[in-house]
Amino acid sequence: MVQVFYQRGPAPAHNGIWYTHRDMRQHRVLRFLIIAFAAGAFIGLVGGLAFGGSKNPGSSTPTTQARSSNSGSATSSTAPTASSGPMTVERARTIGANEMGEVPVLMYHLFGPQAATYTRTPQDFRSDIALLKSEGFYPITVRDLASGNIDIPAGKSPVVLTFDDSSMGQYKILDDGTLDPDSAVGIMRQAVKAGGWADRATFFPLLDVDVAERVLWGQPDKAKEKLKNLIQWGYEVGSHTVTHLDLKKASVQEAAKQLQQSQATLEDMIGSGYKLTSLSVPYGDYPANDSLIASGQYQGKSYAYSAAVEVAGGPSLSPFSGKFRPLHITRITATGNALKNAIDNFKKHPLLRYISDGDPTTVSAPKTLPAELGTVSSDLGRPVIRY
Ligand SMILES: [Zn+2]
Repeated sequence: MVQVFYQRGPAPAHNGIWYTHRDMRQHRVLRFLIIAFAAGAFIGLVGGLAFGGSKNPGSSTPTTQARSSNSGSATSSTAPTASSGPMTVERARTIGANEMGEVPVLMYHLFGPQAATYTRTPQDFRSDIALLKSEGFYPITVRDLASGNIDIPAGKSPVVLTFDDSSMGQYKILDDGTLDPDSAVGIMRQAVKAGGWADRATFFPLLDVDVAERVLWGQPDKAKEKLKNLIQWGYEVGSHTVTHLDLKKASVQEAAKQLQQSQATLEDMIGSGYKLTSLSVPYGDYPANDSLIASGQYQGKSYAYSAAVEVAGGPSLSPFSGKFRPLHITRITATGNALKNAIDNFKKHPLLRYISDGDPTTVSAPKTLPAELGTVSSDLGRPVIRY
C-alpha cells in the first residue's frame, strides 16, 4: 500500500524501494549498535576501573580531572540566561551537561488503529511522549538542531519528532472545528498542556500525490489553516518535495524545480515571512551532489536548505561536533520498541547522550568523550566549557 501511492506518471518503479531501505536501515542500525556497544563497553570498562562509576548519568567525568579544569576553559563572561547566572565549569559539571552527545530524531509517518512499520497508533504515540518526558527529554525542531539553537531546560536532553508525508492522522480537524485529540498534533498539544513538553516538532508535508489523504493532511479546505496554526504554535514546517520525488533518480532540472516550488508554495501558504530551511529527503535518496539541496535556482527563482534529514542511521550527532553534517541528519524510525531501545542504549552508554546546560549560547561537555562523537567543532562562535 505504502509503496504504490508515491508513483506518479512515468515515475520509475518504486515498489521495491521501501524494502531496500528497510534492509539498509537494518544494516545501519546493526552497525550502529555494534559500534555503540563496543564504544560503551570500552568506556564502561575504563570508567569502572579508574573511577568507580558515577551517580549522575551523563557525568562520569573523574573528580581529579574535573578539579584540575576549574581554572581551565571556563568562560565566566558568557552571556547569562534570563533565569540563571553565567555558565561555569562548576555548573556544567553539576548539571552533568554534555552538549556533544547524540540527539534522537524520530521519524513518524502514519497514525492509525493498526500498528505497522510506518503506522503508529495514537496510544503508542502517547506512550512515546510519556516515555520521553519521564526519561528527561524535551522537544526541539530540526531547524533548532541544525543551527545549534538548543534552548531547553538544564539537565534535559533534546529530542526531535519529525512527521513525513502529511497523512490526516498527523493533523485532523473534526467537523465541529476542534482538533482531533487522537491525531498526532492533538496528542502533542495535550502533552504541552500537561506540562514538561513544548509545541516543537518538524512536519514535512507533501503537496501533490495520488492519495488525497496525504496531501497537506487530507483536508484541502483546512490546509492553510493547519500550516499557519503549526507555525503559530511553535512547530516547524519543512519540505518533502512536491510529489515525494526521488532526488537520486530525478534529473537535476526536475529536482531543482521541486526543491524550489515546494519551498515557495509552503512559504506562500504560511505567509508572515516564514522561511523553510529544512528538507526531508524522500526515501533518503540523495542526489549525486549535496550542493543541489543546499541551494539552487529554477527558472530564475532561488531556493536554499540549511538542514536535511535522512530516513535512518540512528541518533544524530550533536550540531557542535566537527563530524555533524547538517544536510545528513540521521533519524530513527519510531516503530515497535525503537524509541525504548534508543533510550536504553543511552542508559547503557550515558556519555553518548546529549544533556543541556540550559544556556543555548554556550556549549558545555565533559573533557573526555567517546571518539565516535567527534571533537568540538572549531568554528562554533560561542563559548565552549569543558570539565
Ligand atoms: Zn516520505
